[in-house]
Amino acid sequence: MRTEAQGLGDWGEREVALKVPCQICHRKKLTPLEDSFPSLDLICKGCGSYLAQVKTVTVAASKVNVRPSLIRGAGWNPLQTQMAIGSMRDLYVVGAIKGEAGHELAWIDRVPGPALLANAHIYEKRIAKIHGGKRLHPMFNIRLGDLPAACLITVFGEPPEA
Ligand SMILES: [Zn+2]
Repeated sequence: MRTEAQGLGDWGEREVALKVPCQICHRKKLTPLEDSFPSLDLICKGCGSYLAQVKTVTVAASKVNVRPSLIRGAGWNPLQTQMAIGSMRDLYVVGAIKGEAGHELAWIDRVPGPALLANAHIYEKRIAKIHGGKRLHPMFNIRLGDLPAACLITVFGEPPEA
């Protein structure tokens, strides 16, 4: 059984796959990966060379032109490895308006991998309780609000208000 958060994440990945072409071969061949890859959610089945991560957040219908200042990330340790070897993949942030019958797409922003590498200060460590609070696990938040505006490229919907 998928949790509500996983269901939202799956939905966001499908929306990016449907609406956004591959940054390398420019075909709409992005495909969700299995859950077992840390911080990697999509692969291009056209060229096999483009990988991306996707974060989906819910936004209020009255506030679609603003962006969240902070979003939840994944595991801190895989992030450190990716940073160390300079292998940050593009990040897609998907805004979902929660409706009566599922979610409605508000916007999709792309942050290029090199922009993430150059702005490592936006990653903030937090200790999360997992397995029902029995274990502590280092995770990260992304302080999206601290990213220079030029690093955030709106690829679907309206860009944020300046
Ligand atoms: Zn491709």
